[in-house]
Amino acid sequence: MERRPMEKKRFDVAVIGAGPGGYVAAIKLAQNGRSVALIEKNFLGGTCLNVGCIPTKTLLANAQIMHKVKRAGEYGIVTGPVTFDFAKMKQRKDAVVEKLRKSLGTLLQANKITIVQGEAAFTSPHELKVVGKESGWIEFEQAIVATGSQPLDIPAFACDHKKILNSTSILELTALPKKLAIIGGGYIGCEFASLYAEFGVKVTILEALPTILSLQGKSLAEALTSSFTKQGIEIQTGVLVQGIEETSSGVSIRLKDRSPVEADLALVAVGRAIASKGLGLEKAGVQTSDKGAVIVNDKMRTTVPHIYAIGDVTGQFLLAHVASHQGIVAASAILGLRAQMHYNAVPAVIFTEPEIATVGLSTEQAVAAGYSVTVGRFPFAALGKSIATLDTDGFAEILSDQKTGQILGAQVIGHEASTLIAEMALAIQNELTLECLIETIHAHPTLSESWLEAALIANGTPIHFPPKRK
Ligand code: FAD
Ligand code: AMP
Repeated sequence: MERRPMEKKRFDVAVIGAGPGGYVAAIKLAQNGRSVALIEKNFLGGTCLNVGCIPTKTLLANAQIMHKVKRAGEYGIVTGPVTFDFAKMKQRKDAVVEKLRKSLGTLLQANKITIVQGEAAFTSPHELKVVGKESGWIEFEQAIVATGSQPLDIPAFACDHKKILNSTSILELTALPKKLAIIGGGYIGCEFASLYAEFGVKVTILEALPTILSLQGKSLAEALTSSFTKQGIEIQTGVLVQGIEETSSGVSIRLKDRSPVEADLALVAVGRAIASKGLGLEKAGVQTSDKGAVIVNDKMRTTVPHIYAIGDVTGQFLLAHVASHQGIVAASAILGLRAQMHYNAVPAVIFTEPEIATVGLSTEQAVAAGYSVTVGRFPFAALGKSIATLDTDGFAEILSDQKTGQILGAQVIGHEASTLIAEMALAIQNELTLECLIETIHAHPTLSESWLEAALIANGTPIHFPPKRK
């Protein structure tokens, strides 16, 4: 058979990976007159749109409705027996992903971005080889590596995607197990725990560290542990999973120095592996850390000045909105515009029941950084709007510098924490103080008043909260 020579195309910028990092950078560059090739080996939208943020939050929206429906009686609403159709929920999730993927394709085309479907690898500092639906070579002036991350697979308990699942394969389930064991109590493990427990699955979280959500600080970890326990989620901490055996009825999870845990299915959520292997980075001269993260500066430039890297592949924060922001910074640097990455005001949300959101420093981090801190914590149980809607669990907490009053960090656990955190991100990004927050009129009755009240408490001038005893 005669083999056609592979085509070679030239672009100003080649972007590898069409996740929230890569596609945002591509749009910014194309809008500023650059010819852009966006190379994607799988689906447009990357992890976030296809197997991450969007599908999980679509399923969690069902859980939120279920949560409210179960409490209907408290609102004086009489319901009959409540049932649900998990297969239909999965179908809706697929439809949401499909719809957003299509819109993204249209958006990229409208921006005159050339989408190349295939897997790219560097062959030299200015050339990529692409293999897949479209194969060929791409020559570029500048490149952005935005290849993301994948679920971390542990050889001792490798996923078979039938009984031992990861965060991607669990999204394909159309029926619920009776018992689910989740290995790893990070945010991904906790979100799935929340989702499945709401639909009556007996969930056990197995976490090696002394607490779940170890990265989020002690007070949030304790608050979620207490809430999860009330919801019937079993949490075993300080347990190291050493292996998973498949049994006739499900799985048996082998723990170090403890009795095994039996379940129908196991979800392995032990972290993410950075997707930098097989990219030929060494052929381009791009350096990586021991963990495979591409080393970048604050302009997202790698060790090779005309090659940039953004998103999960840089190993920092592993959040979609961080990837997108880094994409704008990298594109701006390529365009000769001023931009720099700062990480002091990165909001992070965990979509559990109750929701958790943080931004800026935790108390532990602020103390370690040498600050004398003032903490103002306001419980939702004292807020009119929360009492009206029966959403009184949780609190909003502001951390400020005792000397200047500058807001250093904020955390919130409770209803709509995901939306509430935006105000504090704006405050921290713009170096606002407690005073700025106190002078800002907050609409009543709203959940956002919790920030005002927390600031007043931190300031020592509480209004809707008892003053400190002298
Ligand atoms: P990705 O989204 O991983 O995209 C990288 C793309 O590159 C992929 O499409 C991949 O196919 C492609 N690619 C890789 N190698 C090549 C190659 N050689 N050639 C061509 N293409 C290639 N973040 C949040 O902010 N909020 C959330 O609620 C949230 N929920 C999550 C839930 C789950 C279950 C998971 C797994 C993640 C979640 N995340 C969330 C994290 C978020 O998905 C990632 O931080 C984000 O997708 C990273 O974006 P990225 O552009 O760096 O990489
Ligand atoms: P994250 O990195 O935030 O996704 O969280 C993953 C979690 O999995 C971390 O809290 C780890 O401590 C936990 N973990 C990793 N390996 C194991 C293991 N073998 N057994 C139990 N927990 C684990």
